Amino acid sequence: MIKRRVAIIGAGATGLAAAYDLTCAGHSVDIYEGGAEVGGLAAGFRDDSWDWTLEKFYHHWFANDDAILGLIKELGASDKLLFPRPITSLWLDGRIYQMDSPNVVVANLRLPISLVAKIRYGLTGLYLRLFKNWLPMERHTAQNWLRRTMGREAYERLWRSLLIGKFGYSFDKVNMAWFWARVYKRTPRLGTFEGGFQAFLELLADRVREQGGVIHLGQPVECIKKEDGQFVVTVNGADSGYDAVLNTSSPQIMLRLVPDLPPDYATRLSALQGMGAVVVILALKHQLLTDNTYWLSLPADTPDKSQAEFPFLALVEHTNYMDRAHYGGDHLVYCGDYVAPDHDYFDISEDELVERFTAVLKRFNPDFSPDWIRKRWVYRTRYAQPIPLVNHSQALPDLRTPMDGLYLANMSQVYPWDRGTNYAVEMGRTVAGMIMTGFERG
Ligand SMILES: Cc1cc2nc3c(=O)[nH]c(=O)nc-3n(C[C@H](O)[C@H](O)[C@H](O)COP(=O)(O)OP(=O)(O)OC[C@H]3O[C@@H](n4cnc5c(N)ncnc54)[C@H](O)[C@@H]3O)c2cc1C
Repeated sequence: MIKRRVAIIGAGATGLAAAYDLTCAGHSVDIYEGGAEVGGLAAGFRDDSWDWTLEKFYHHWFANDDAILGLIKELGASDKLLFPRPITSLWLDGRIYQMDSPNVVVANLRLPISLVAKIRYGLTGLYLRLFKNWLPMERHTAQNWLRRTMGREAYERLWRSLLIGKFGYSFDKVNMAWFWARVYKRTPRLGTFEGGFQAFLELLADRVREQGGVIHLGQPVECIKKEDGQFVVTVNGADSGYDAVLNTSSPQIMLRLVPDLPPDYATRLSALQGMGAVVVILALKHQLLTDNTYWLSLPADTPDKSQAEFPFLALVEHTNYMDRAHYGGDHLVYCGDYVAPDHDYFDISEDELVERFTAVLKRFNPDFSPDWIRKRWVYRTRYAQPIPLVNHSQALPDLRTPMDGLYLANMSQVYPWDRGTNYAVEMGRTVAGMIMTGFERG
């Protein structure tokens, strides 16, 4: 085998998984990461008093996330997996309704909707769990399909909120195949890694290094060009040559980095839309959700945050899922939301965002007061959730770009699945295989 040089842009789960297979096969890999650590959107941070890291954006795995669980097994680290069954709930009419109850039927019957709506809601959920042929569903918007199938009442009261919360003003344009994938894949057991996702990502990065890969942290790539059959990657004004390049950043960054992309492909990339995400993380002195709910979905009646009942979508009490002993006894709560990349949540100060989000916490626990907050953190990203429109499969760019030897693998390409580290790993390994096949073909 001829050893080839590959540059990977991004040390998130996709880039690391691709690098793992490429270095395992003996190729020379440089990963360039703009951030200060590996992990990308799944990266974690650690406060001084904590033993474990916490994800900047809430993360967990499903029990059927076979690609990532398989990789963890290959790394010999399956004993570090933790899969409890936390409580996930919905806030409706001022009350918490548990959704992932061991007895789903009982949970369903408790919902404050008519009996007919409950039955239609339950049957639709069952149908989506059993149905596998998702492709025809992408012709319909989730809103139209769900309204027709489960009826207006169940849709408006239960699922419309989720769509608005995730996709804002695009909520009625998202296709039904994406929605199917969300329901189909969900498992009541939710997994994490001992030490946090960051511990897994560091383990993978270490393995890449042991196999000869080099990870350049804090080194954003400025430009990718092809000259005389070789790729030239520019970092800090210096050029390096490669036989192949894999970019794992967003479609928008790809457009900026590769000025010579063929116009048709560039047009395809520009058409891909996405939502950003913001989270406020609070280290509290007391438990907020005293019924031990881990995940509480909040209603979103309108995409206009100034009119909405709550300023964010999900209240996630991490220490109702993982033991707070790993976090110096802190009670850790995320207040998270998805908003368009030009939303004012990206422009207002951290203090203002924290103030807006914490203003509603008394609704969940009347004893809450701002002096419960020991410390707080704010994380924001303008690319967090691709928006899968009708017939999305036809709009997706191929992992192989029209420039021979240049590959793109990012969250928008794991469709119909909702973006996640499991699919990032699967896609990273698939694209590594494509790169190596390309080398064999010469
Ligand atoms: C709010 C939120 C919740 C989520 N929840 C879950 C969950 O529960 N479970 C789950 O599995 N997944 C979850 N995800 C999704 C998961 O984080 C992503 O699917 C996964 O991390 C994507 O990995 P990636 O490597 O494809 O991309 P990224 O993680 O985005 O990595 C891309 C990397 O490229 C780097 N980069 C960008 N431009 C440059 C440049 N010019 N030069 C060098 N480097 C560059 C970035 O810094 C980044 O590190 C969630 C994501 C968000 C935002």
